[in-house]
Amino acid sequence: MIKDSYGRELHDLRISVTDRCNFRCQFCMPAEQEYEFYPRSEILTFEEIKRIVEVSVRLGVSKVRITGGEPLVRKHIENLVKLLSEIKGLQDISMTTNGFLLSEKARSLKEAGLKRVTVSFHSLRDEVFSKVVGRSIKVSQILSGIETALEVGLHPVKVNVCVVKGLNDGEILDIAKFFKSMGVVVRFIEFMDVGNVNGWSLEKVVSAKEIVRVISREFEIEPVEKSYRGEVADRYRYKDDGLEFGVISSVTQPFCGDCNRLRLTADGKLLTCLFATDGYDIKTLIRGGASDEDIEDFIRSVWHSRKDRYSEERLEKLSKGEVIRKVEMFKVGG
Ligand code: SAM
Ligand code: SF4
Ligand code: SF4
Repeated sequence: MIKDSYGRELHDLRISVTDRCNFRCQFCMPAEQEYEFYPRSEILTFEEIKRIVEVSVRLGVSKVRITGGEPLVRKHIENLVKLLSEIKGLQDISMTTNGFLLSEKARSLKEAGLKRVTVSFHSLRDEVFSKVVGRSIKVSQILSGIETALEVGLHPVKVNVCVVKGLNDGEILDIAKFFKSMGVVVRFIEFMDVGNVNGWSLEKVVSAKEIVRVISREFEIEPVEKSYRGEVADRYRYKDDGLEFGVISSVTQPFCGDCNRLRLTADGKLLTCLFATDGYDIKTLIRGGASDEDIEDFIRSVWHSRKDRYSEERLEKLSKGEVIRKVEMFKVGG
């Protein structure tokens, strides 16, 4: 187990496998912008990713999440899942996806060793969903991805909803009810100021407290104890059926004190925070012929020197008018 400069242990690794995406979500990668993507040669191969994960597991990582961009647009992504599933000591392999390609991919992902999946979901209405993701979408396509994931046993299937004022906040209760009836856990996420292009402002954030208030007007709910240190969602239980939902309050109630996540970008940089301005280049090390011990030393030193607590400093930085060039969400992976 390794600890950073505030004593936080390293447990989770989030791996962004591509910076490309088949959506253009307003809060991540707005369609009005032009984007430059990493050239193919700069993208880590599956073998390189496996090596980084193997070494990370020796340093205490027990869970990995595959993300992006959109992970399902990376060709043969199930081959990466297969490689990772061979790593001894790695307890959990999950994925966050926009769900568009999930109905065709869920089975092969499960067979390759994926344990569970989180699907991002924005609205129950085709026109709002399409507006959010910047392309014409039928909600039924995403729902069929969720249903297939349930059928093949990618349990638990969870749903993430990034709530933005004026965009989908009027649907909080409908979305909660809809997935409650399906037995699927929803996590409502506060809109975050990741990157520089998503037009974030504090006024567009719907607080986790407000989200809970909206749901509690209709349902009797009770808070659930955190099941492990560093769990980011505050969980609640519906008293009638025992199903849970969660809220992720990164803006209004930051949780940096327990943050145990390291992030790896598709082009081989380690990021110690979702709001990082820069990463640590592990790809050059690997491509230069480093031994596993060299890689281990590198990750250890990156983690040891970690001092990030952006969300706790956000309001202070905003009040000072500080402008920070942060890495974009579709490159970090959430
Ligand atoms: N493409 C995949 C997807 O959308 O699920 C994985 C990558 S995406 C960057 C990871 C998660 O971040 C998604 O659940 C997405 O809704 C969420 N997200 C993106 N931009 C966000 C923002 N500005 N604030 C909060 N959540 C955001
Ligand atoms: Fe793509 Fe996910 Fe970002 Fe939407 S949130 S643009 S699906 S990476
Ligand atoms: Fe972790 Fe950075 Fe988020 Fe704080 S702001 S919880 S350090 S990722």
